[in-house]
Amino acid sequence: MPFQQHHKGMLLNFSSFSFDSAIMEAIDRAGYTEPTPIQAQAIGPVLEGKDLLGLAQTGTGKTAAFALPILQHLLSGKRCTARALVLSPTRELAEQTRKAFESLGKKTGLVALSIYGGVSVSAQRRALKRDMPEIIVACPGRLLDLMGQGAITLKDIEILVLDEADQMFDMGFLPSVRQIIASLPAKHQTLMFSATLPAEIRSLTSEFQNEPARVEIGNSQPVETVNHVVYPVAQANKYAVLSEILKNTATGQALIFVRTKHRAQKLAVQLSEEGYPAASLHGNLSQAQRDKAMQKFRSGKARLMVATDIAARGIDISGISHVINFDMPDTVEAYTHRIGRTGRMTHRGTALTLATPEDRSMLRIIERTVGGQIERKLVTLHGNEMVSSLDDGSSVTPEPRADFHGARDEYSGAHSGGPRKPSPRSFATPAVARVASPARPKTARRSAYAISRSSGRHAPGGHPKEYVSIP
Ligand code: AMP
Repeated sequence: MPFQQHHKGMLLNFSSFSFDSAIMEAIDRAGYTEPTPIQAQAIGPVLEGKDLLGLAQTGTGKTAAFALPILQHLLSGKRCTARALVLSPTRELAEQTRKAFESLGKKTGLVALSIYGGVSVSAQRRALKRDMPEIIVACPGRLLDLMGQGAITLKDIEILVLDEADQMFDMGFLPSVRQIIASLPAKHQTLMFSATLPAEIRSLTSEFQNEPARVEIGNSQPVETVNHVVYPVAQANKYAVLSEILKNTATGQALIFVRTKHRAQKLAVQLSEEGYPAASLHGNLSQAQRDKAMQKFRSGKARLMVATDIAARGIDISGISHVINFDMPDTVEAYTHRIGRTGRMTHRGTALTLATPEDRSMLRIIERTVGGQIERKLVTLHGNEMVSSLDDGSSVTPEPRADFHGARDEYSGAHSGGPRKPSPRSFATPAVARVASPARPKTARRSAYAISRSSGRHAPGGHPKEYVSIP
């Protein structure tokens, strides 16, 4: 589905921005035929030199919405001096943004450099001297270190971008961001992008921005290309339910979110032991380990990535068909961010959430945000025994194995929503069973899986059996 952008009643295309031919060539090379809504609305004001508050979900093309006009601006004026600064909450996002500048600015001769912790500071000092970048994409901590060492000066910065501003403030970067902004020349343009607009951000825009143009896409609701499903489950059965979902759902790549670094590590190891190629991404890893995990996932070598919220922000991998909330996020903003990892651009994605009875109030808040009750599904474990059940008056779709074909349709975009009919094809049809079916986990190992917050009830004779009520 191509994007059709109307601006003040006119159909917009990239040529209406009068970009330099070097930039137009890069847009063509990237395969962008028309601007996305955020690009259609943000590029003009940025080119005019206005401050901007962009409220856009991830996956909407917001990086190019600021990268393209910044590149255009930098084409005239001084070279070999840092003139644009992008602040990113995470290293992965910084690296991704630098790469976007690199590919969109390929023929411009402009250089972008990323700066973040966890890698050698002297290598970054050397790169600053050697490459003399015009664009710096940085995480606040390491940038302050380098500023303190006199390795970089921000006195020539003309444009500042605060990307994923809500996350930056959430993660406690505010004092560092203030310090960095204090070192910028008094006159500079500030672009702030945020998926959500909590009250703190609203007040901070008045502190950092001067009458910003405000561009809002989709009311900061979770991306519309994502189909949401909830699996009611007792804490103790989470792993068994996840395992069934993975076995019976034809996922492309799946990103699985958990609450803590420890759980991320543990779940990835367990999934790997059971034959699922899985990597993990969390804050306890060294930068080299994080890069390696991202590389494994990006290349498709790892089908599954188990991650904490901190580590997974801003990840843009178009093959992510499913986001699975193994643990319910703590905030609705985190839900939006997590599911923004799938359904990128016009691809369809599915967000599956395992919800325990303790999660019901968060589930309600999420449902208010997505605008209605999320479909419930049940998982059948061990033959026909129903071990997950829901009693909240909502309609539940029982999920016999054949029905999981529906998930494949969601992934491919063929399914148009609404109740699904069981697929006539058998579960074992090879074309459908895209996730290799590993050996069923041993009951002993499953019950030994020690990541439960509260233990579920176990039926005598082995299998954990639960009756969950989410009133
Ligand atoms: P972002 O929201 O910046 O992370 O972008 C999400 C994805 O959209 C990236 O893979 C971009 O390369 C891609 N993208 C950005 N702009 C366009 C466009 N105008 N047309 C098609 N794809 C785009």
